[in-house]
Amino acid sequence: MIPFLDLKKINLRHEKALMDGVHKVLHSGWYILGSNVKAFENEFAEYCGTQYCVGVANGLDALELIIRGYDIGAGDEVIVPSNTYIASILSISANGATPVLVEPDLLTYNLDTSKIEEHITSRTKAILVVHLYGQSCDMNPIREIADRYGLKIIEDCAQAHGALYDDKRVGNLGDAAAFSFYPGKNLGALGDGGAITTNDEGLYNQLMALRNYGSHKKYENLYKGYNSRLDELQAPILSEKLKWLEQDNERRREIATYYSGHIINSEVTLPTVLHDPESHVWHVFVVRVKERNHFMEYMNRNDVQTMIHYPIPPHRQEAYKEWGDHEYPISEQIHAEVVSLPISPVMEMKDIKRVVEVVNEYRTD
Ligand SMILES: *Cc1c(COP(=O)(O)O)cnc(C)c1O
Repeated sequence: MIPFLDLKKINLRHEKALMDGVHKVLHSGWYILGSNVKAFENEFAEYCGTQYCVGVANGLDALELIIRGYDIGAGDEVIVPSNTYIASILSISANGATPVLVEPDLLTYNLDTSKIEEHITSRTKAILVVHLYGQSCDMNPIREIADRYGLKIIEDCAQAHGALYDDKRVGNLGDAAAFSFYPGKNLGALGDGGAITTNDEGLYNQLMALRNYGSHKKYENLYKGYNSRLDELQAPILSEKLKWLEQDNERRREIATYYSGHIINSEVTLPTVLHDPESHVWHVFVVRVKERNHFMEYMNRNDVQTMIHYPIPPHRQEAYKEWGDHEYPISEQIHAEVVSLPISPVMEMKDIKRVVEVVNEYRTD
């Protein structure tokens, strides 16, 4: 079986360096918010091109803390794509604000910027953009709308570490950005982890306290905060893996380019790159197939593992049953047809060729 993603193989490339990191923390005797978290925050801010980075417990917390930091809550609305991973939407609900779903563009799967403005009301406070599947949203029109209406731009970069837009990295394209270091992401820890990047000094100072019980100084609490800290033990692991991120993303691009150039089957719609091909980091390689179950069974029979990102749209989830009668036809079509093919920095050429061969031989009957 060609695995969808071989995480063990990805991490074992760095076994010695990762174990050295664990050893360093173990011997330091300091296990929460120590020098390793600080060092990683500095490195990651530098990588993204922002002034600040705050390490937090996971990607959902990163989003939730940004919204809290901007004081967006009950009675406020936040614009968010209707086809994202549920966490983007949960972060708005968790603050008591209302998520306003906007349909994506069927070509890029990212927010359709021409549909944003019609959803803006006097309650709208922010646009939460999601750089889905590894490709940046089209930020110039979004920035123009946000400026015109005085809205914050919050980026969900959980799938796009290192992606570019006009030579700037995601994480540095809005007011504040959330990253996840869930193990399967392009930059993944050996457990949960997350970060916020921003150039907003006021927000940064507030977030440094909010993630730590609302405290800047031990036993003095400025805010009703959270416990959401990046684990000290994950920090040296992330620092080591950050050194390889560019190379890993480049390898993902090579595989995506090979797939795009060699998959030829009228039943299979290939992904579209909006800008410069060097800007996409291919967290997943998503194709669309009308008879998806049939296709996935066929791939499985031929020993190729595939996945769906994601099978159920947020407005059809039990958790959001209040949206049951809303219609988002593009989002529904995407959720019904998308399939992700194997892609990872450790995939071998023979497996890449085999995936192409199997996809090209697929027939509906
Ligand atoms: C993974 C992911 C998240 C959540 O990250 P966690 O670290 O698992 O909380 C948020 N948004 C998107 C788009 C994601 O893919």
